[in-house]
Amino acid sequence: MDKDLRERLDEIKNQLNEYAYHYYVLDQSLISDQEYDMLYHELETIEKLHPEWITIDSPSQRIGDQLLEGFSKVSHAEAMYSLSNAFNKEDIAGFIKRVQSIVGQDLEWMCECKIDGLAIALTYEDGQFVRGATRGDGNIGEDITNNLRTIPAIPLRLREEVSAEFRGEAYMPKDIFLQINEQRDEMGLVPLANPRNAAAGALRQIDPKKVAERKLNVFMYGLANSGKHQIASQAELFQRIEELGLRTNPLREICRTLDEVLNYIDKISEIRHDLVYEIDGIVIKVNDIKQQQDLGYTVKAPRWAIAYKFPAELAETRILDVEWTVGRTGVITPTAKMVPVQLAGTVVQRASLHNVDFIENLDLRINDIVSLHKAGDIIPEVTAVMIDQRREPTEKLSIPKKCPACHTDLERIEGEVAIRCINPNCPAQRLAQISHFVSRQAMNIVGLGERIIHQMLENQLIQDIADLYYLTKEDLLTLDKIKEKSANNLYLAIQASKSNSLERLLFGLGIRHVGAKAARLIAQKFGTIEAISRISPEEISDIDGIGPMISKSLVQYFNQADSQQLIDKLKRAGVQMSFHGQSSSIDPSSEWLGKTVVLTGTLSHYTRTEAKEILESLGASVTNSVSSKTDLLIAGEQAGSKLVKAESLKIKIIDEATFVQKLAESGVENE
Ligand code: NAD
Repeated sequence: MDKDLRERLDEIKNQLNEYAYHYYVLDQSLISDQEYDMLYHELETIEKLHPEWITIDSPSQRIGDQLLEGFSKVSHAEAMYSLSNAFNKEDIAGFIKRVQSIVGQDLEWMCECKIDGLAIALTYEDGQFVRGATRGDGNIGEDITNNLRTIPAIPLRLREEVSAEFRGEAYMPKDIFLQINEQRDEMGLVPLANPRNAAAGALRQIDPKKVAERKLNVFMYGLANSGKHQIASQAELFQRIEELGLRTNPLREICRTLDEVLNYIDKISEIRHDLVYEIDGIVIKVNDIKQQQDLGYTVKAPRWAIAYKFPAELAETRILDVEWTVGRTGVITPTAKMVPVQLAGTVVQRASLHNVDFIENLDLRINDIVSLHKAGDIIPEVTAVMIDQRREPTEKLSIPKKCPACHTDLERIEGEVAIRCINPNCPAQRLAQISHFVSRQAMNIVGLGERIIHQMLENQLIQDIADLYYLTKEDLLTLDKIKEKSANNLYLAIQASKSNSLERLLFGLGIRHVGAKAARLIAQKFGTIEAISRISPEEISDIDGIGPMISKSLVQYFNQADSQQLIDKLKRAGVQMSFHGQSSSIDPSSEWLGKTVVLTGTLSHYTRTEAKEILESLGASVTNSVSSKTDLLIAGEQAGSKLVKAESLKIKIIDEATFVQKLAESGVENE
């Protein structure tokens, strides 16, 4: 019996170590967190029965992360711990009872959201940000200072000259995570499993510019050696952290009883799907810092805190069919149609299957029962096939060889997992392109839905987006269910869209990787389509927020003869192609209009973000790095390499006082 148990322990240890290696080092999840936690629980149970079997390599004896090559190592001022887990009400009640009996009195509990990101430590010396690190193995972490400096919520200087090491969580907002996965889908790459893996992967990039593209954010909640900083409680610590200019999560609450803790959990559980970041539980901490110190730590976690983990939000359902649709770039995407099922707040009956590899890796078949979850809390995703519930014979999925719309042979481009229809005249691609062109974020032509576009294509009234502008009212009257009044309205809506600002057109063209935001940044910077069609990738990459993938794709697009012809045809129809300015409130005589400005050093009147917003509202564009295209450098205190570079390029430099004065002249008062 004991022999079996011993063997089981070894087996679990090996499995957990393998999973942890993939999770922490490779940022991949081979199993779900819930499955990992269940295995871990089994390990703890066996180790409790047989403490003599505990070995130093047991996952219960060390904090999971293994250190990565490529970053220098940092010793933490005080160890960074993991947290013990609670999975139900009884676990939480047990924890509260245990701690109160050790301390000998009723306690106050600080309840916080457990942010699903990765732990970071930020060291400040005399108020200056000097070092940022991952948790690593708890005692030693990786130095990721340069990467963390790209996160706008991390101040490079605190509001007071304090020396301390703060702890918190770096995370990727859900919308960014979804955007990245959409892009990966389009490029035929396997989607990232969750925002936590995405954030961890982003922070381990060697190139800080790449990190900046990932738009990470932070919430801070801790302080190393908090006892030495004369802070009495966790609540006071939050206040102090905020005073110093660091970001905290406001969804915290002091609770005095188990019922209050459970109410807080219920309250957060209800709103968690509406939060813009992912949380995977609630952390319950003893509020009083002196009591925290008295309680101390196990090898792995504080005795004064526990993490309640939300139950897995999974659902099981049956696959009814797989639909293959053609996107506007010709990529063929499989979508599962399933028996409707309730999942994390909504009824789900469709889920993207991404690409052929995804289907083959899962060995998915029609009629299979599958397990679903929501990636980034929003998008339903098939995570596994319940093979043991498979009833043979099942139907193997046939991967299309021909385009479902135009029957052209499909191609698989080398190095990509996507299959594509390469027929430029494919009607499904045309439909998707035109629908995209008229959509709300693009040309916003109200009343022009897919059904009408489909008919226009079928009746050969149009073949491409430019043809829309050559349609007459009479043409529109030939369409089904379109009477005089709606034909008139639609005609006017199409004509009105001719005078849209450039960013709408640029986005509407459907250039790969050029989303609405990138289109806006590019239109703002270059002003006209002529200027954009002449630029080099370097000039575009110079814009804050535009990566090399976007710039390459944009340049490629404008180098194609077809694109130039399309643009000429739009121009001849009277579509205007220039940027209207940030907003109509921008004064056209503003001295900032069209200027490229770089901010450097520490500003005392504004945060970086505030200064950037003000400048952009005046019509300037703010970029990260100094180049020959920079018009002005605003240098705060302790400006470094950007100042040197600006001087060498003979770029105009002003200090903060001059900046504030110029803003006042432009009508911006500093309160
Ligand atoms: P954890 O993520 O369960 O909890 C500890 C961490 O919570 C802290 O280090 C901190 O980073 C974070 N945290 C977030 N908000 C916090 C707050 N308000 N206050 C304090 N801390 C907060 O523990 P861990 O050691 O980082 O990771 C272990 C967990 O990782 C496992 O329980 C499992 O769910 C997951 N895991 C999964 C796999 C897999 O293959 N799927 C493998 C290894 C680990």
